[in-house]
Amino acid sequence: MDQQLIDLQPLPQAQSDGRPLLIAGPCSAESPQQVLDTARALAQCGVQIFRAGVWKPRTMPGSFQGMGNEALPWLTQVKRETGMAVATEVATPQHVEAALQAGIDVLWIGARTTADPFAVQLLADALQGHPEVTVLVKNPVNPDLDLWTGALQRLYNAGLRRLGAVHRGFSVGRGGMYRNDPQWHIPIELRRRFRCLTIVCDPSHMGGSRDLIAPISQQALDMGFSGLMIECHCSPDQALSDPGQQLTPARLRQVLQGLTVRKVKEADEELSLLRRRIDACDDELVEILNQRMAVSRQIGQFKKHHNMPVLQTDRYSELMQRRVRQAEDHGMDGAFMQTVLQAIHEESVRQQVEIFKKK
Ligand code: PEP
Ligand code: MN
Repeated sequence: MDQQLIDLQPLPQAQSDGRPLLIAGPCSAESPQQVLDTARALAQCGVQIFRAGVWKPRTMPGSFQGMGNEALPWLTQVKRETGMAVATEVATPQHVEAALQAGIDVLWIGARTTADPFAVQLLADALQGHPEVTVLVKNPVNPDLDLWTGALQRLYNAGLRRLGAVHRGFSVGRGGMYRNDPQWHIPIELRRRFRCLTIVCDPSHMGGSRDLIAPISQQALDMGFSGLMIECHCSPDQALSDPGQQLTPARLRQVLQGLTVRKVKEADEELSLLRRRIDACDDELVEILNQRMAVSRQIGQFKKHHNMPVLQTDRYSELMQRRVRQAEDHGMDGAFMQTVLQAIHEESVRQQVEIFKKK
């Protein structure tokens, strides 16, 4: 059962006029020059929080792992010089301690860490007694809303109230146009459950490509997200991590100018959140049906090759009974499920027959 997280506070870095919270900065802090050049330009674009990874969770050993403690004073200098708040990723209690010592204002928990409740609890313990810190929790790598809310609850239970969530998409192994699949219904449900939670979208990690940053950002704003976290680098092509998904500050300015911020009316919000969830579910339904039809066609090829008939009635009635029972266990109407399955089955058979007809 979810706790309500009722007394969450608005983030102190958020804009008071309701305009989106802007978090931007390089994937990684690489050198004092790169950090400062990028930060000075971003401060001119209206960015509130400057982000830079100091300890990088890299999938492959041997890739750039971040500059570590050495980079913390560079962020402190950004804060002093530009007035922007500064943010970095923490994955261990040692990171938390070093970051707090350096005066980092905002910590974020990365997608790989959110997926590990032991690690999140260690971070929550390390943050106990620091209610002044803003902590952003990225969604876990896998599409599991409970892991995400569980991480937020562990931090809440440690006394933190300046909490936010970052939607960066999910690794679902489906291929497709995104580096990490959005599965919008998950953050939408998060929003419905915790209405005071600040949720921002990270179009860089979601899209994995510069070209997708503008359209994803617009989509997130249209869905009522509170802000954006966008990776920016003074020379993106030379970046030591994630070069393909970082914008120059000049390009960020253009992207921001092209975005339309819509005001969402409180009263309409609940209904429109539910409608967006329905849309997201239908989206998944069509994808899943498409996958099912593809498998069905493969079976058609197999049957043709082995001279088997298209229809195998035993298999069909067994499948039908099992799914009708499953539906009823969920409290759905069995007759309804039967109608749905019949329609799906008829289409599968039609597609297999087409395969048999082909020479
Ligand atoms: C990052 O923000 O640079 C990062 C590593 O993100 P994620 O945890 O979303 O992969
Ligand atoms: Mn990155």
